[in-house]
Amino acid sequence: MRERFALQYKADEHRRMIGGKETIIHCHHYNARLQHTIEHVTDVDGAKIIRDSAEAVFAEHVANVLEEGDDEATRLAAVGALYAHLGFGRLELSRAAEGVVTSDQSHYVEGWQAGFSETQRKACTFTEGYLQGALAAALGRPFSVREHKCMNAGDDRCEFTVDARHEPVLRNDKRPSDFHPKAADGHGEHGNIDEQAIIDALVQMPFMGSDEGLIPAFGVYLALTPADFYNLMCIQFVEQMRAKGLFRTAQRLLTFAGETCAMNTFRGIMASAEWDALIAPMIQHKEDALYGLMALSNGFGWGNWRVTEHRPAETLTIESLNGYEAIGHREYRGSCDDPQCFMLCGVSAGMMELVYGEGLLEDRFGTFLSEENQCICTDAPCCHFEVEPA
Ligand SMILES: [Zn+2]
Ligand SMILES: [Zn+2]
Repeated sequence: MRERFALQYKADEHRRMIGGKETIIHCHHYNARLQHTIEHVTDVDGAKIIRDSAEAVFAEHVANVLEEGDDEATRLAAVGALYAHLGFGRLELSRAAEGVVTSDQSHYVEGWQAGFSETQRKACTFTEGYLQGALAAALGRPFSVREHKCMNAGDDRCEFTVDARHEPVLRNDKRPSDFHPKAADGHGEHGNIDEQAIIDALVQMPFMGSDEGLIPAFGVYLALTPADFYNLMCIQFVEQMRAKGLFRTAQRLLTFAGETCAMNTFRGIMASAEWDALIAPMIQHKEDALYGLMALSNGFGWGNWRVTEHRPAETLTIESLNGYEAIGHREYRGSCDDPQCFMLCGVSAGMMELVYGEGLLEDRFGTFLSEENQCICTDAPCCHFEVEPA
């Protein structure tokens, strides 16, 4: 089964393709934070946005990895194998036809326990949506899936009920982007960091789920999530918030999730054995850590972004040639009037706070401000971020 998920790396675009879908590497801190953000706002039904987005995307993703002639057992095995390969955890699907799926390892539960251990609530909305889409693809009919026991709520495993439903499975409707990224012209600054060496090393690393379905690496749990999922979820969240007059709030929340991602994820990464082996030997000045983080995020499939100007500890200017948020917005909705790359915008500030800030992470939040002042979504040739002290 694993050979169906073999990584195809598109070096010119920094894209990681698995089962015909572009996948993005993020960690348990970011994924749980993003879910917490979207579900916490009472003005919209965040859980439904997450569930619907996962259903539409994974119905398509699982269909991509099924082969003609697969019997039902093989098709169900693919549902569990893809989930585990991408690092989301371990599913027990042998009773799926009787309406029960359980899980004893979960990327999202790890994230909630790391970031929101006080919550004690069910955390696996993503898995509900994954199962709705994946089981529909495998069994050829739509289902409604709800979690009723969760390890994050103190149960010994997560347990989901699977019910037949009438409404057809949601479709992942998008059209190919008409945007052609401009060529990298070699103007990026890399300090003493050999970005290509880092990207080459990352592509060789076997990022795939262990027997438990988790990807422990760089001091965090990684997951390989389709860009479509992030994009569909964030686009719907922003649209529904905008309809309530809350566009600025949505923008601020998603940017904050990116800032938190940079601080928590990259702090874990900078303390890891992989960082010590791969990147630390290249670092001669403080700013080289920032260039190293940029290289790493390019290797994680976030796109192709680079520093165009940097005054250490003061200002940072970044351009992004093909970030997944911008490309995704054009695929799902076309171009628009406002910049849409909230994750990269938050990460830009978070990197400055992490590399140059002092003291507890909590004290560093908000000490730098970032703004995306041009975006591929507004028909600019690239996205452009400026960071300065708050
Ligand atoms: Zn759970
Ligand atoms: Zn943008």
